[in-house]
Amino acid sequence: MLQKIKNIIDNGNSFLVTTHIDPDGDSVGSALSMCWMLEFLGKKAVLYMKDQIPYRYEFLPVPSSIRHGLPEESFDAIFVLDCGSLSRVGEGYEKIKTLGRIVNIDHHDTNEMFGEINLIDPNACSTAEIIYKLHSSLGVLLNYNMGINIYTAIITDTGSFRHGNTNSNAFLICEEMLRLGVSPSYVSGMVYESHPKERFRLFGIILTTLETYKEDTIAIACVTQEMFKKTGTSREHSEGFVELLKEIRGIEVVVLLREVNSNKYKASMRSKGNVDVAEVCGLLGGGGHKRAAGCTIDGSIDEVKGKIKEVFKI
Ligand code: AMP
Ligand code: MN
Ligand code: MN
Repeated sequence: MLQKIKNIIDNGNSFLVTTHIDPDGDSVGSALSMCWMLEFLGKKAVLYMKDQIPYRYEFLPVPSSIRHGLPEESFDAIFVLDCGSLSRVGEGYEKIKTLGRIVNIDHHDTNEMFGEINLIDPNACSTAEIIYKLHSSLGVLLNYNMGINIYTAIITDTGSFRHGNTNSNAFLICEEMLRLGVSPSYVSGMVYESHPKERFRLFGIILTTLETYKEDTIAIACVTQEMFKKTGTSREHSEGFVELLKEIRGIEVVVLLREVNSNKYKASMRSKGNVDVAEVCGLLGGGGHKRAAGCTIDGSIDEVKGKIKEVFKI
């Protein structure tokens, strides 16, 4: 598969790189590092992300301009990164297929193999681990700009080496990135210690919605558009709260519901027990990893909670 991708890159000139909506560190870091690599090889790389880069990742070096509107032109190939399904690219995703051959690079267990070429490794800690291997097989000499993107992607997807997906490659690759000049304290400062105080006002309100079930093994909390408005925040300020709730002793599953509109909620689920939340989210039309998954559920808050309680037999 790596050889096939190498041939596509060697024989092409212009490429589109894209990733999922609600971008996280792995999606942003993998996509930016892929663009840096293509530019290093003298190719044209266009990055398309439906959403803006969240403020905490704005420090990452960006090679060329990012587009937030769907491109019109054709490309020699389209690299779709960190997406279990093509729909994760966001509204208008069907059009992407008409712009060029799809190369799907991902680490989700639930990947739908939507590409003409699918480079999927569910054992990889992050998509960035696969991108790192791609750099090596293409003979690209890694530099600081690629390194800091890869480092940030791995740190965030492994929860700073705490989640179950942390493997030896995560440490080995990050160690190499440090030798390229990446500073862990600089990255952590930007990603984890650069929040506006409004984020914490928001968290305070979210905590008042916390409910636990089944002898405190399942936690459900929610964030509404009203809460965002009241605190002057938006979705990006709520990233990471679901992981914080995992710190509750004895909790096995955390569900954070975020209101998209009055009849649609995005559920983020995390597991630290034996529950496979990718399977649970799969039942609700989403997917992800065993211990971190998501889905979008239609209905009012009570209906959505009802659907969640039903799948967990609460
Ligand atoms: P999140 O809760 O949005 O941080 O997502 C947790 C994990 O599940 C990530 O790996 C996402 O890529 C994946 N995921 C989130 N939402 C969906 C969805 N609607 N469909 C498939 N996978 C998802
Ligand atoms: Mn991701
Ligand atoms: Mn990922």
